[in-house]
Amino acid sequence: MFSVVNPATEDVIAEVPRTPVEQVDEIIATARAAFPGWRDVAPGDRARLLRRFAELVDTNVEELAALEVRNSGHTISNARWEAGNVRDVLHFYAGAPERLHGMQIPVAGGVDVTFKEPLGVVGVIVPWNFPMPIAGWGFAPALAAGNTVVLKPAELTPLTALRLGELALEAGIPPGVFTVVTGQGSVVGERLVTHPDIRKIVFTGSTEVGTALMAKCAPQVKRVTLELGGKSANIVFADSDLEKAAATAPYGVFDNAGQDCCARSRILVERTVFDHFMGLLEPAVKGVRVEDPALDSAEMGPLISAAHHASVSAYVPDDAPVAFRGNAPDGPGFWFAPTVLAPVAPGTPAFTDEIFGPVVAVTPFDDEADAIRLANATDYGLSGSIWTRDLGRAFRVARAYESGNLSVNSHSSVRYWTPFGGYKRSGLGRELGPDALDAFTETKNVFIDTEE
Ligand code: NAD
Repeated sequence: MFSVVNPATEDVIAEVPRTPVEQVDEIIATARAAFPGWRDVAPGDRARLLRRFAELVDTNVEELAALEVRNSGHTISNARWEAGNVRDVLHFYAGAPERLHGMQIPVAGGVDVTFKEPLGVVGVIVPWNFPMPIAGWGFAPALAAGNTVVLKPAELTPLTALRLGELALEAGIPPGVFTVVTGQGSVVGERLVTHPDIRKIVFTGSTEVGTALMAKCAPQVKRVTLELGGKSANIVFADSDLEKAAATAPYGVFDNAGQDCCARSRILVERTVFDHFMGLLEPAVKGVRVEDPALDSAEMGPLISAAHHASVSAYVPDDAPVAFRGNAPDGPGFWFAPTVLAPVAPGTPAFTDEIFGPVVAVTPFDDEADAIRLANATDYGLSGSIWTRDLGRAFRVARAYESGNLSVNSHSSVRYWTPFGGYKRSGLGRELGPDALDAFTETKNVFIDTEE
């Protein structure tokens, strides 16, 4: 067993099994055995079961959200959105079983058709920063396409995943079709990667673990989708609505205490308005409400763990160029005040590393070409924002920035009906949106000779 800790109080709130390898193998065997039955459920019935699962998530949004507040320190308003996102993603992909169309392709002497067939058992490996949505983005389309799923939550945040597993059974999804297994990444996660009956891995987590995992999938040519780290830029041009850009910038990076792969953790500001922008940013940062995440007014909670607190703190040594900081509570809990570093030189760790905490680096740029060069000057390419009133420039920069999810005059990244994923070392493949089902199916081509 391992202890699950409330990061806002440091209290132990649950004990969860460390599942041993032999038991993981049994769970995979059960999922493998459940696969033909689930694959053959009539499309309309599979859709109905997923809708029922979605409705049960909806009925339990408050319970799931409260659980996430206690387990992950997420603010209650974020946690409600996260549970609602699982519901919405299930509803969205509940429309898929009846729409998994193949093609009919013209050929001489016969008929050629394609089928979208499920892969088998899919392993979904989830990090601790968004336990509910990231799990749902994997399991909902996987199940809709007719695969069975073994879900491994992160060691630190298993509680909502376990509850979602119960709700799936309650919805009537047959045993073995969707199983949640807790334990260590190096044991349970590793076994999902090496077991030949797992036909695909959906991994979200660090670039370090993701790249090693991809190599381990290679010998079996195991399908893999990777959603990894980010170091996204919020690019602020002088012609933008500077008041709005400054007022929203803290929420583009400090949401979820900066533990967000899409966090705009670099703010690039046109040099001519740098000082003006910093003057507007300071009150916005100081106004972020960092408090008990169970309060409706909370805008930011604690970091996830003591170890992560130490890792984030290492990026703010005594001689760091701290421009200003926001507030955080004293006492127990892994609290870290929002921190603005400026000016940060390109190429330094604060500019290139994914800190994954409420620390933002602000850097000036000279012109559009310089902004694009700096935005692309990291190994990552997941997200980003562009603030300008010039529509042509917005499109030019959006096309030139090597990143998968961009927003103009906003910080939004994720809509479940649009694609999500990274360029460069931020990942491989896309989740969500209309095309996610391609990642959970094989295309089979069948030719039928019609000649006499
Ligand atoms: P992590 O890589 O340490 O762990 C992620 C998951 O992998 C956990 O469930 C862990 O138990 C498991 N794991 C660890 N070692 C493993 C192994 N050898 N084999 C198989 N599984 C293993 O990441 P984390 O610290 O939990 O999460 C933070 C990271 O996730 C950040 O880098 C963040 O950017 C990234 N992230 C990316 C996205 C995205 O969509 N791109 C979303 C959220 C988080």
